Amino acid sequence: MTNPWTIAVHGGAGRLTRSTLTREQDAGARAGLTAALAAGAAVLDTGGTALDAVEAAVRVLEDDPHFNAGRGAVFTHDGGIELDAAIMDGRTRGAGAVAGVTATRSPVALARRVMAEGRHVLLAGPAADSFGDSQGLERAAPGWFETDERRRQYAELMADGGDGFDAGMKYGTVGAVARDGAGHLAAATSTGGVTGKRWGRIGDSPIIGAGTWADDRSVAVSCTGSGESFLRVGVGHEIDARVRLAGQDAAEATRAVLAEVESLGGTGGAIVVGGAGPAHWAFVTPGMNRGMRSAGGEAVVAIYGDERIA
Ligand code: ASP
Repeated sequence: MTNPWTIAVHGGAGRLTRSTLTREQDAGARAGLTAALAAGAAVLDTGGTALDAVEAAVRVLEDDPHFNAGRGAVFTHDGGIELDAAIMDGRTRGAGAVAGVTATRSPVALARRVMAEGRHVLLAGPAADSFGDSQGLERAAPGWFETDERRRQYAELMADGGDGFDAGMKYGTVGAVARDGAGHLAAATSTGGVTGKRWGRIGDSPIIGAGTWADDRSVAVSCTGSGESFLRVGVGHEIDARVRLAGQDAAEATRAVLAEVESLGGTGGAIVVGGAGPAHWAFVTPGMNRGMRSAGGEAVVAIYGDERIA
């Protein structure tokens, strides 16, 4: 039996308002989200898997400088770029993740190779990039990840003493969740983390059960927001547990878990898809770059909290 496939993507949640984004940033983000949905839909529409669809969608967003992942990632305190990503297959709960990689052009593709190779779930640092070399993955050209806008944000942060992180709170992490025609679920997330991070800081995105989760028995989840609180809540797995064990629907579970994030002083959002119906999103920030598309339908994308989507 075939199910109607569905895919949702996000490009980060945060202080995204009509006055904080330029016209170019607004249009660029919408175009990027639409292109990512098209890449995922092309896979799903031809009978491909949710796993291939989320990887394809996230790769598009990693290459897009409007988002904080791959090209356009934020700078660390030391002026470097350290990337985190994860992918999970709801059929098997197979998972792969990388943290603090600096050289592989597509961190989500690297996470997928970690998963496929099968021995480990999470690899970190330059050795993870070397694993990518052994798998024949493309390295980024020098400077590929860096953009002027991220340099400007980094300079602003350092001019302010360099002690805080993520000036402006424009998170821009990317992620995708999908259900394919066979009813299987998958999730992927990719990020540069937070501007000014140091000491090898790793957020929720590459941590299975926190920023990324997929289980065919319940939901696939990709998160964005203040990673420390998402880690402490175990957001992905917590949404899953509420759906699978407590019988909540995905919307109710996501709302409840984001309220827990807020109770710890955190903020952000999540995209979620279950075994039936369209994907769902929720966020407790002024905006979230987001979009969804289902079999036979058009892409819908939005940024601001007050955008109504039919
Ligand atoms: N959750 C990411 C992190 O903490 C940041 C983000 O969503 O933009 O690394």
